Amino acid sequence: EKGKPLMLNPRTNKGMAFSLRERQILGIQGLLPPKVETQDIQAMRFQNNLKRMSDPLEKYIYLMGIQERNERLFYRVLMEDIEELMPIVYTPTVGLACTQYGHIFRRPKGLFISILDKGHIRSILDNWPETNVAAVVVTDGERILGLGDLGVYGMGIPVGKLCLYTACAGIRPEKCLPVVIDVGTDNETLLKDPFYMGLYQKRDRSQAYDDLIDEFMEAVVDKYGQDTLIQFEDFGNHNAFRFLRKYREKYCTFNDDIQGTASVALAGLLAAQRAIGKPITEHRVLFLGAGEAALGIANLIVMAMMETGMTQAEAQQKIWMYDKYGLLVKGRAQETDTNQEAFVHDSPGNVQSFLDAVNTIKPTAIIGVAGAGRLFTHDVIKAMGALNERPIIFALSNPTNKAECTAEDAYTITNGRCLFASGSPFDPVTLSDGRVFTPGQGNNAYIFPGVALAVILSGVRHISDTVFLEAAKTLSEQLTDKELEEGRLYPPLSNIREVSVQMAVKVVEYVYAKGMAFRYPEPVDKNSFVRSTVWHTNYDSFLPDIYDWPGVTFNPK
Ligand code: NAP
Ligand code: MN
Repeated sequence: EKGKPLMLNPRTNKGMAFSLRERQILGIQGLLPPKVETQDIQAMRFQNNLKRMSDPLEKYIYLMGIQERNERLFYRVLMEDIEELMPIVYTPTVGLACTQYGHIFRRPKGLFISILDKGHIRSILDNWPETNVAAVVVTDGERILGLGDLGVYGMGIPVGKLCLYTACAGIRPEKCLPVVIDVGTDNETLLKDPFYMGLYQKRDRSQAYDDLIDEFMEAVVDKYGQDTLIQFEDFGNHNAFRFLRKYREKYCTFNDDIQGTASVALAGLLAAQRAIGKPITEHRVLFLGAGEAALGIANLIVMAMMETGMTQAEAQQKIWMYDKYGLLVKGRAQETDTNQEAFVHDSPGNVQSFLDAVNTIKPTAIIGVAGAGRLFTHDVIKAMGALNERPIIFALSNPTNKAECTAEDAYTITNGRCLFASGSPFDPVTLSDGRVFTPGQGNNAYIFPGVALAVILSGVRHISDTVFLEAAKTLSEQLTDKELEEGRLYPPLSNIREVSVQMAVKVVEYVYAKGMAFRYPEPVDKNSFVRSTVWHTNYDSFLPDIYDWPGVTFNPK
């Protein structure tokens, strides 16, 4: 029995890479084919199989299968081909996987807490096999990507996000805990689906829900410590803002949909500003959508503008929002909420459509975060091209079919002049004159793994918005001039590990300098400090420490 549990545990299993000595000593000789294999060959086997698959969901299932059997190999494969595989374990395919969760389910991953467990969350946490958790990603499944309420099927999101903590920033997988909180779902299709895996009830929106989240937060820090990072992900708009406000000074927490998105979008704008040569304060930004993403981004742009000496009011004046009911203006029939107040301006005139809004406000940048599909029409893109020499067009809604426009539309209609970024990946676009443009992917994965690594390592207790401002600057600085010329606004994803580690180094320097770090002694060389913690996928040896005592004989003299 010595070795078999090691083989069955994905954290320790190395398949045919167990050496002959290990097999003999652990009592697993004969339980594996005779060949002793290197991880290189194992990785190649999986890579070859993946190449043969054309269906993204099939790839997702296959990859998750590797994770269930051999975790180090999984991360090795993922990291070696991160540009290809990130769209599988993360947006867009993870979205499809979530919608199909009940059908493709093999083995549970992560922790499931339902509202019926109220009063018992601490004991549920005790069932989790790892005792040294440093980071939790939690969702209640209400707003999965741009797909809406998927209830407990949303588990794919925390699982995917945490895969990126490890793949992008080298955070040890056993330190990561994915959680889904099930308070029901308002998704009628799921409530009728015999394969659904959560509670068959409407979302509990009563005080009991708030109490449950409170209990969850308390239980996590009680078990894993006050500085455990808790990332909120894909909560509905109202709850996302509420919980962020409620918990941000009390726990080490952030909301990726609001703050992570803000940071990655701002980094794209800063990069665009490098290309255009116009300071951020001279931009006018029009959002399509006025929710978590829009408000997060808008507030961070305001912070960036204020750093250059602008007042808050002046900066807010440069930002406009257009939602389901039209432009956010004073006195309109549909209510706006308090989070939106700063961006509700005097009406600039008669605006009936988003196109009208573009022509009236004359933005230098439009940012789509409505999750409502192709609303940057041909005319909208054309208008942006007429108003600006280098229009900035960000179609950030996920997954791909929700993007406000395609990369191809943006580049063709503006004849290659636009600076484009999307939330989900698009292939490079070749114009009829042969010029090739590589669209930027404003992927939150550029931000949250690096920030998380820095926060975990430096013992930050509360994550200030300035951390996300710092992260945005660091990200935009990492883009080379050559990459900028190719149309990129972000470094290639293939480089994300180095990008994340460098970001973590900068953020660690920043939080120590600002007195936000509580891990002492303060490391002198932050760069080697961060790099020394990064997790690698090489297998551990399970051989006992066997050695001789040189020249010793136990004969009485
Ligand atoms: P949210 O809080 O629900 O906000 C959506 C906003 O869009 C709301 O203001 C909504 O107005 C508005 N809207 C909905 N339909 C519209 C329409 N037809 N025309 C104009 N506005 C419309 O969601 P969110 O968290 O901001 O996310 C929105 C989208 O951004 C999602 O697709 C998400 O995947 C994407 N996103 C991308 C990234 C990224 O690429 N890095 C990061 C985060 C989010 P009402 O409130 O009136 O319904
Ligand atoms: Mn999200």
